[in-house]
Amino acid sequence: MDDPNRSIECTVSKCRYHCGGCDYCSLSAVQIGSHEEQPYCAECVDCRSFEPKD
Ligand code: SF4
Repeated sequence: MDDPNRSIECTVSKCRYHCGGCDYCSLSAVQIGSHEEQPYCAECVDCRSFEPKD
């Protein structure tokens, strides 16, 4: 299991950078962005560092 970065909580267990046993990211930093021109709620915002698990 990768080391959790306790500054980045994440529940996306299908991401290859998710820690698996706990809800944290294993990266030292992530990039956040939006797929909306005018984001207005949390669902408009995405983690751009996401990569699917193999
Ligand atoms: S890269 Fe993004 S989606 Fe993937 S575990 Fe880290 S914070 Fe979550």
